[in-house]
Amino acid sequence: MKKAEEIFAEAKGLIERAADPAAIEELRIRYLGKKGEVTQILKGMGQLAPEERKEFGMKVNRIKADVEGLIEDKKRGFEQAGRSLRLAAEKIDVTEPGRDVPAGTKHMITITIDEISGIFMNMGYSVTEGPEVETVFHNFDALNAAPNHPSRELTDTFYITENTLLRTQTSPVQVRTLLSQAPPVKVVSPGRCFRTDTPDATHSPMFHQIEGLLVDEGVRMTDLKGTLDLFAKRMFGEGVRTKFRPHFFPFTEPSAEMDMSCFVCGGEDPSCRVCKGSGWIEILGCGMVHPNVLKVGGIDTERYTGFAFGMGVERIAMLKHGIDDIRLFYENDLRFVQQFYG
Ligand SMILES: [Zn+2]
Repeated sequence: MKKAEEIFAEAKGLIERAADPAAIEELRIRYLGKKGEVTQILKGMGQLAPEERKEFGMKVNRIKADVEGLIEDKKRGFEQAGRSLRLAAEKIDVTEPGRDVPAGTKHMITITIDEISGIFMNMGYSVTEGPEVETVFHNFDALNAAPNHPSRELTDTFYITENTLLRTQTSPVQVRTLLSQAPPVKVVSPGRCFRTDTPDATHSPMFHQIEGLLVDEGVRMTDLKGTLDLFAKRMFGEGVRTKFRPHFFPFTEPSAEMDMSCFVCGGEDPSCRVCKGSGWIEILGCGMVHPNVLKVGGIDTERYTGFAFGMGVERIAMLKHGIDDIRLFYENDLRFVQQFYG
């Protein structure tokens, strides 16, 4: 059997060299546990002569206390080291520059809608929106669309039920406005529209329009032309000129399409990609509100007249920024979004 002094010397060396709290726990069990070496020596005391027991007992108990002390010291050492490590890891350097949080940007469709709306708001228009799921009444009937109008066909329109559909244009908002508001009316209405088009570079089954409506006493075609000419100049530059070509829409009479002189080449470049060399670009449809539409809204057509216009938001954005494929707007590719507003 080892002598008490030997056990102490050995325990002291092992405790000092212990690398982690688990090793210390092993040593505690090895020396001070129920079957530990120090415990065993104390148990063996019974074999000694009675006169030796007292001195031996005191010695072993001192060794036991010393081993306990060494183990406690070592444990505290580990705890302190752990705390220091944690503190170092959690330390906050208040002088460190802030991390860059990437900020989102508005999508170009939103920016274009804001820009167009802003131009009309400066002319006193307010912005109003309508539902994307519409009734056949608001989308077609109230807008004077003939019962056999081709856009009513199942092949052109997403019907939800016989009487509800995904609106094919923002024009139903005109009807909703006229039904809820007495003249004077002066609103623009942006939003999503849906048609059963197969996606290609210039078509998408979901797209955006912005619609305008003005109804008041004495509104004439010249007001329409002046308003839209001013819009074109604010949107594309003071140098652009506009012209109006007769057209047909069921909800306006007379109706026109507005062309704008090419803001890229001014009509000087026969190979211009924007105007295809014609010098003119088709911008929007417009006209004087058809009396049948005003009547749906209960408006006295002898007293009030009005004009309306509508344009494709994507088309305006594509022209202005030289984008050649409408699908780029919806593909969520940040490389596309950020090159314009990075
Ligand atoms: Zn051109």
